Amino acid sequence: MTNLNEHYNLSQSLTNTERMPVLFLGHGSPMNAIEENQFVVGFRNIAKTLPHPNAILCISAHWFTNGTKVTAMALPKTIHDFGGFPQSLFDVQYPAKGNPELAKETKELLIPTAVELDEKWGLDHGAWTVIKHLYPDANIPVIQLSIDYTKPAQYHYELAQKLNTLRNKGILIIGSGNIIHNLRLVDFPNFDKDNYGYEWAIEARETINSYLLNGNYQPLIDYEKLKKAIQLAIPTPDHYLPLIYTLGLQQKNESLVLFNDKLVAGSLSMTSLKIS
Ligand code: ZN
Repeated sequence: MTNLNEHYNLSQSLTNTERMPVLFLGHGSPMNAIEENQFVVGFRNIAKTLPHPNAILCISAHWFTNGTKVTAMALPKTIHDFGGFPQSLFDVQYPAKGNPELAKETKELLIPTAVELDEKWGLDHGAWTVIKHLYPDANIPVIQLSIDYTKPAQYHYELAQKLNTLRNKGILIIGSGNIIHNLRLVDFPNFDKDNYGYEWAIEARETINSYLLNGNYQPLIDYEKLKKAIQLAIPTPDHYLPLIYTLGLQQKNESLVLFNDKLVAGSLSMTSLKIS
């Protein structure tokens, strides 16, 4: 009975809306939180195209767990999960509320996958450094769904599909990562050079964008079978899997547009997309 009551309360608290778009945001350096650059302009501009959300569900590259968790606290803390940056970045707080009812609804939608209601995490920098530019007043509640690192991309693609009904309740689902993300090879002295990518990164971006724009997602799910350039672009799955969640949410009659589609420091991309 408890579960039924919880369902009833949520239906009351979240109004039915037109279907919300889905975003994948390339978050890049945590410094994007406090810098003014072309990418944060891109985030602000895409926000202007969105209906007003009731809440945000964010799948961040920086919450990679054994099993699946969803943040369920009323007041998530701002997590500064990085090192070597100026104090001004550590001073940033993003005081958006949580949404415990939405966390419970998410847990139920994902049955039979066991989802832990988490009270310890909060908002990591994959979430707050970008959401801050979409909603600077922190007036939209945010919850995070973790990525189970024991599972392959196909599993995440299918898990995402179960979240689709949330889009009709005004929930903005955001995947936050970076499609091309090879930190070991980053050319730090050239971090500010516009659209600068190594040859393999240029090749990887072309290949991946063409799959994205043609709606051909299976090769992207099976990315481990793709050529060398893709293996260099995705040396670990953490920053890539949030993209797979976003793609799993696309419906047949929806289209995908790219923005912030630039390479950074040789081995990163900021490529972001909106599905609507
Ligand atoms: Zn990151």
